[in-house]
Amino acid sequence: MKTPITSIPGIQNVRAKQLEALGVYYAEDLLTLYPRGYEFRNNVKKICEITQEDVKKQVAVTLKGTISDVRSKYIRSNLTVTNMRLSDGTGSVTITLFNQAYNVKKLHSNQQIAVYGNITIGSYGLDINNPVFTINPDTDTDFFEIKPIYPLASGLTQNFMRKIIRSAFSKVKAPTENLPREILEKHNFPVKKTAVVNIHFPKSSEDIEKSRKRLVYEELFIIQIMLMLLKSDKKAIEGAISFCDSDNKIIDAFINSLPFELTDGQKQVWQDIVKDMDTNKCMNRLVLGDVGSGKTVVAVLAMLKAILCGYQAVFMAPTEILAKQHYINICKMLEKITMTDGEKIKVTLLTGSLPLKEKRQALDDIRTGRSQCVIGTHALIQAGVTFNKPGIVITDEQHRFGVKQREILQQQNAAGAPDVLVMSATPIPRTLALVLYGDLDISILKGRPSGRKPVKTYVRDTSARQNMYKWLAQQITEKGVQAYIVHPLIEQGESDMLSAEENFKKMTTSPDSPFKKYGVNAALIHGKLSAQDKAKVMERFVAGEVSVLFSTTVIEVGVDVANATIMIIENAERFGLAQLHQLRGRVGRGSGQSYCILVTKSQDAPRMKIMEESVDGFEISEKDLELRGPGDFFGTQQHGLPPFRIASLYSDTDILKEAQQDALLIEKDSIKYENYLDYIKSIIPERISL
Ligand code: ADP
Ligand code: MG
Repeated sequence: MKTPITSIPGIQNVRAKQLEALGVYYAEDLLTLYPRGYEFRNNVKKICEITQEDVKKQVAVTLKGTISDVRSKYIRSNLTVTNMRLSDGTGSVTITLFNQAYNVKKLHSNQQIAVYGNITIGSYGLDINNPVFTINPDTDTDFFEIKPIYPLASGLTQNFMRKIIRSAFSKVKAPTENLPREILEKHNFPVKKTAVVNIHFPKSSEDIEKSRKRLVYEELFIIQIMLMLLKSDKKAIEGAISFCDSDNKIIDAFINSLPFELTDGQKQVWQDIVKDMDTNKCMNRLVLGDVGSGKTVVAVLAMLKAILCGYQAVFMAPTEILAKQHYINICKMLEKITMTDGEKIKVTLLTGSLPLKEKRQALDDIRTGRSQCVIGTHALIQAGVTFNKPGIVITDEQHRFGVKQREILQQQNAAGAPDVLVMSATPIPRTLALVLYGDLDISILKGRPSGRKPVKTYVRDTSARQNMYKWLAQQITEKGVQAYIVHPLIEQGESDMLSAEENFKKMTTSPDSPFKKYGVNAALIHGKLSAQDKAKVMERFVAGEVSVLFSTTVIEVGVDVANATIMIIENAERFGLAQLHQLRGRVGRGSGQSYCILVTKSQDAPRMKIMEESVDGFEISEKDLELRGPGDFFGTQQHGLPPFRIASLYSDTDILKEAQQDALLIEKDSIKYENYLDYIKSIIPERISL
């Protein structure tokens, strides 16, 4: 039972609502709302000790001294400025307070005070603007303590947060210890309760460091244990197939039949896969490759190898659109191959929207083994689908599938456990890959096919919209190119974001729309449309009947229309960088120059700038990680993992490594840790999916 947040003194409904913005719903949540920094007021400096470096970085300092020349100036109705000098015998600084009439009353010349604030350089030497201060520097010990700095939401102040978090400690039970005793001893970690108290109210920097390390370790360690438990479920599937008898001449012929040469990256990954497939160890490999790096052909090679050994190859895509597109492409690629018995490879598509008759036929072909290559959506893992002899299961854009679903496919098998290959275009930083996929072997598909021009990316303010759409309409009419316009919302809500429907309506009906003037054909696509309707719209776009697609992120994954060379992303600030990069990957697929325009209110420009500067997904995700820090990290929650409250995958890699090694030791000694492992199992989130 959790404690209602309103049981904390000072929190009523209004406050409760404000706290929800920080993810705080219960009193317990306050204990894990860790500070994002501290005011180190404990270290009193002499003014002469302040260095150039301090000023340059505007560091916060605590100073003690006597004030003089206290003067208040009324500037305008909502601005009163108070200036004074503070001297400590080694030097003096100017103190400026804004709108603190109430506090200023307590100040007079020759008074001893202490201040804490950021040091800057002003017109008359050193300045501290709007510091906190105490008029009892000798007795007010509270002032000189290290103060936590909390993340804030609208309406909340640091003082309020400090007060309620202190009260929370007396209202709720201390958090339970969830590291094994041996681990605590090994690393000389404080127990959970001490760590949590000290991270909020440290007495020294050492307190912070020790508590932080323990709490970071805990988050990373527990995730490792969870993954380990999920992985050991998977290990139960014994006996894998070796595909070393595949006819390499046919594979070589296939490679030669391609209209391009494989990139070095593709060759490298293919080597990794061959090594796995040739042994009778179960392949469990993740191919991480940026959008457009050419993962599909690598997948087809792996399928071909399995098919040549008499097995079925299964390829699962996250959407109907993608499954169909893969089906068309793969049919084309495999068409040229003749098997040793003179037969062609039969490729079958299975999706939910297939007409009943075709579906029956497909199911029959899959069950009898007449079809050697099966491509489809989730429909592949529904009841009623029986495979004949699946040898390899490939999932594309894997983050849409749960571990459980992959396992269903793996278990449908009497011939031996099929190899598993997972293709992902989510460019995640190496550290995160280590956390999330500790259980998979990872191949990184580097580089991209040559001859493609990087997408030119521009960040534009909303005020440039009219001109931009005019430019778009011109490009479409003059060059015959196509475009996507992506929106974060389907329908107009209460927010000021531009929705796909609204923008579509405006651009297609408003008399001053450049689309009208140039006669541009547009269509609308989003997740609320039925699968059939979506497919219809996509078909018209692929066929070139529609020039502009107003959409939501449904087009994010995999869609490949080479003639679509322009993408406009509205309210770009609403998307994570990784997602923006994914979206951008929908253009730049042909040989022409492509453009991506990020429309945003200018305040988010620094983050967007990264998109202008880099087209490398891995680099972007590293930067994203660095900018965001711990907490609202993009990858973990998407995967259903508990969010990191304190660990930063950017800076805590050393701790991550320790946690991983320890988790391995626990795995080896799983009998001894049975109770502990049961406990962790009980807290694995339901919807975890990797
Ligand atoms: P992704 O990794 O995003 O799934 P795809 O496999 O869809 O990328 O490949 C994108 C495009 O690049 C396709 O049109 C494909 O035919 C082409 N392609 C793949 N490999 C090469 C290559 N080695 N040289 C040139 N073009 C390639
Ligand atoms: Mg792909």
